[in-house]
Amino acid sequence: MSGQLVRRVTVLGVTGSIGQSTARVIEELRANGQAEIEVEALTAGRDVAGLADMARRLRPAFVAIADPAKLEEARAALKDTGAAVGAGPSAIKEAADRNADWVMSAIVGAAAIAPTLAAIERGAAVALANKESLVCAGQIMKAAAARSGARLLPVDSEHNGAFQVLGDGKGVERITLTGSGGPFRNWTRQAMAAATPEQACKHPNFSMGAKISVDSATLMNKGLEQIEAACLFDLSPDRIDLVIHPQQAVHALVSYCDGSVLAHMGPADMRVAIVHALAWPRRAHLNTARLDLAGLGNLTFEQPDRERFPALELARRAMAANGPAPILLNAANEFAVAAFLERRIGFLDIAGIVEAVLDRQEVESMSAKSPSSLGEVLEVDALGRLWASQETERRRAA
Ligand code: NAD
Ligand code: MG
Repeated sequence: MSGQLVRRVTVLGVTGSIGQSTARVIEELRANGQAEIEVEALTAGRDVAGLADMARRLRPAFVAIADPAKLEEARAALKDTGAAVGAGPSAIKEAADRNADWVMSAIVGAAAIAPTLAAIERGAAVALANKESLVCAGQIMKAAAARSGARLLPVDSEHNGAFQVLGDGKGVERITLTGSGGPFRNWTRQAMAAATPEQACKHPNFSMGAKISVDSATLMNKGLEQIEAACLFDLSPDRIDLVIHPQQAVHALVSYCDGSVLAHMGPADMRVAIVHALAWPRRAHLNTARLDLAGLGNLTFEQPDRERFPALELARRAMAANGPAPILLNAANEFAVAAFLERRIGFLDIAGIVEAVLDRQEVESMSAKSPSSLGEVLEVDALGRLWASQETERRRAA
């Protein structure tokens, strides 16, 4: 490769699983002389010690912690780094607004919507690990990118894989996303009813944040990814397929109108997608495990079981209804997953609560038109959480 990669980057959610993997990629590219990477800003939710550690390693100009009560603690912990410190949601947005040419969106959940949109609105290249922001506000983000010239670079591994084999997008018939099937792939509904947060968070191939781990166990993750793919690649929902592939060597397949199918393969390591997005449109060398097909021996594919995993049907329903439904689906799911992690409800209640929210009479009478501003999206998100909390209390009282 000729010449060094030069980037000024911001990592939103640097203390999380994707954030830490991004930091490792930045450090490796810096250390082996492939890239000159300056870090403009880093953010975290509540983990001051983790944020301070990252600031020492990556040397940002600005850091932000989302919890406003942690400002003094963060100032003290970051004193020796020389970074300016902010706290609260407005400081997270300031981090996204600052002048980085590449922004990693790796905050979990709908909290990522406002800062991700801010980075898109000022025309940055935005690496999208966070999927909830596309599920809730995908059309708004795409319109903002068209206005500002921002480039959206998918980092969710299936979407990054599809992006890599899509070429110019001509003649595409279908996109197939793969999924491991999660830790409960072979469990009965009866066994799932008693599943604990520890069991749900034990993913077969990846170590991820708690929320996406539970989504991988319910398969809501695949449902959200289907909505994300339809938005990113401008395909109607019926042209996005899912297939369960426990070995996770194939991440996505693009089927063309002449019968060709191009697959994206690679090791199950999120750094592969992260470095692709960071180096794009070039490539950088990264020291990951290489895929060993003979070592794997067999690759298997099967249909997802929509009866045992009702979240798939709920996501399909929300995607077809469009309008506010995907936002309600996501908000109810986020609320229910948090309640499950706090042991306030059982595993099967998660999909039950999402279904109850989508079933509310008000949903049908809400306009079929998609919310068209950030404010409208956040209003529907708040409503979804309120309805999910009411359903949670109803179930706990029953
Ligand atoms: P995580 O829980 O490990 O990290 C989340 C990050 O967001 C942390 O830095 C946390 O401090 C921060 N955060 C949490 N709440 C916040 C708030 N209210 N305001 C500001 N910051 C907040 O999550 P993760 O596994 O790294 O996933 C991050 C995103 O990437 C998710 O949307 C997930 O779906 C997506 N993703 C993750 C993986 C993976 O392998 N982990 C793969 C594909 C996509
Ligand atoms: Mg994924």
